[in-house]
Amino acid sequence: MTTIVREPTRYDMEVNPRSPSDVRPDAASASDPSAAHHPRQDKKSLYENVVVQFDRAADVMRLDADVRKILARTKNEIVVNFPVKMSNGRVQMFTGYRVQHNDALGPFKGGLRFHPDVDLDEVRALAAWMTWKCAVAGIPFGGAKGGVQFDPSNYSGADLERITRRFVYALGDNIGPEYDIPAPDVNTNAQIMAWILDTYASTVPPHDRQRNIHVVTGKPIEAGGSVGRDKATGQGVVYTIQHWAADRGFDLRNMTFMVQGFGNVGAWTARLLTRLGAKLVAVEDVTGAVRNPSGLDPDDLLRYARVHGGVFRYPKGEFADHIMFFQTPVDIFVPAAMENQVTAETARWLHARLVAEGANGPTDPEGDAVLRERGIDLIPDILCNSGGVIVSYFEWLQNKRSEFWELDEVDAKLYKRLTQAYQRVRDKAIELDVDWRTAAYVIALARLETVYKERGIFP
Ligand code: GLU
Repeated sequence: MTTIVREPTRYDMEVNPRSPSDVRPDAASASDPSAAHHPRQDKKSLYENVVVQFDRAADVMRLDADVRKILARTKNEIVVNFPVKMSNGRVQMFTGYRVQHNDALGPFKGGLRFHPDVDLDEVRALAAWMTWKCAVAGIPFGGAKGGVQFDPSNYSGADLERITRRFVYALGDNIGPEYDIPAPDVNTNAQIMAWILDTYASTVPPHDRQRNIHVVTGKPIEAGGSVGRDKATGQGVVYTIQHWAADRGFDLRNMTFMVQGFGNVGAWTARLLTRLGAKLVAVEDVTGAVRNPSGLDPDDLLRYARVHGGVFRYPKGEFADHIMFFQTPVDIFVPAAMENQVTAETARWLHARLVAEGANGPTDPEGDAVLRERGIDLIPDILCNSGGVIVSYFEWLQNKRSEFWELDEVDAKLYKRLTQAYQRVRDKAIELDVDWRTAAYVIALARLETVYKERGIFP
């Protein structure tokens, strides 16, 4: 099975397997601020990070050579260039992606992000991480990821709705409730999921509409969402940190932590950990960093950030630059923003006992090596932030069964699944004497290897 590019479907989709540089948004659309954005030329390949992590685990477990060939590649890569008639009456071109890495364990699953750095390489890596994440969590989904390359902060809500709807229309039946199920990710939220649902449902025959609400998860509650989904990723991060602290004999009430990124994951992690008695001492987001050794109130900081567009100049803390932020003495560091933040350089700045990866791919392979060498513990992304997709699975099940679960039920089920996953990863790391990322990969790859052996390769 090699990379398959699906044929154009019933809509006006354009499939484009070429390199992302061939499909940049039309730079001539001068009114488009994002068209001028060119991802950094020195941007390291994220998919290479995945390959390094994958190879390390595949070697340790002696993964079957054929399965290795299959899993090293993505299955389908969909690139769509689509026009949007903006509220000013002008047409602007956008480029969107959906990469489907693997569906051996179930339908493709993973978020959609809106960000100027979205490109094919990034989406490939994020799709592969979803495959491993769902396999570690033991939920019946494969891995996918998508996005549109633009900066949503430059657009009105009305234009975001237009872009979202036109992107979903361009994807056509490359997504579907039993085939590939998107969800929120960077800069996308429940409102955007509601527009996705509405657009998808509007393109199927009327009698099929109600049967399709599980085409997307992370929806608003009234539109078929699950209670507990909004906080689920942060809640999962906190459950794994609680287990780690218990294993190490630490009391979270005596611990300090800092978060990078104050979006859904960073803010929920900060609030939930603070409720358990841990002290938030530093936060960094795109606008800057703020520190306070006596503790920051995450609710107050969130109110401030909503009004001012970020944490910069928050009056109840002192300003810190990027280096100072990383050098803050803490027990726990939660990167909950973008990829490649913990590198060989920044990993040396850290004064932390634990890095708990709320983001996807925040640590590059060189950063991993420094953390290992310095004896800093790591709860890897594919375990640590899996709470989001686990509750997405619960939402999908509730939709299919026309059920509505209460919050305590959702939380208890999430806790149970994450606890099992955490214990399996910890025990595997001890058994094989490997780092936790490698242990998590070994668990995921073993599941995938088993299903390939059982099902075989067609024909
Ligand atoms: N975007 C989230 C992630 O990276 C959630 C994915 C989902 O719920 O499908 O895990």
